[in-house]
Amino acid sequence: MSEATIFDKIISKEIPATIIYEDDEVLAFNDINPQAPIHFLVIPKIQIRTANDITVEQAQLVGKLYVAAANIAKQMGFAESGYRCVMNCNNDGGQTVYHIHLHVLAGKAMGWPPYQDTLKSKG
Ligand code: 5GP
Repeated sequence: MSEATIFDKIISKEIPATIIYEDDEVLAFNDINPQAPIHFLVIPKIQIRTANDITVEQAQLVGKLYVAAANIAKQMGFAESGYRCVMNCNNDGGQTVYHIHLHVLAGKAMGWPPYQDTLKSKG
């Protein structure tokens, strides 16, 4: 396995997190630094470092992240009002933890594009 991340310690319960869903393959917990009134992360229990590393064999597992997000949204009552799912990839994508995770943000109307510099090239 690649270098362990903080998320491995959350999976193994070595460090605490507010867990909102768990099954054999998937874990969801509140983000420690929320960027919306509701902000949680949905992760696979196996480490996949970035979106670039997802294999065809892992496609169903990655799909389960979205299924878990939608089920949580329904249970928490914001599925109909809506939410945003984001997976950041590598440095320019803003990824800081190298274990793929779906950010699920909700509880307010969000603008698009998400950043003013979205349309700027790197030059
Ligand atoms: P990224 O920047 O990689 O897309 O997102 C990583 C996310 O993990 C950030 O939103 C950050 O707040 C969250 N995070 C980092 N460390 C911890 C932690 O120890 N506990 C929890 N619950 N979230 C964390």
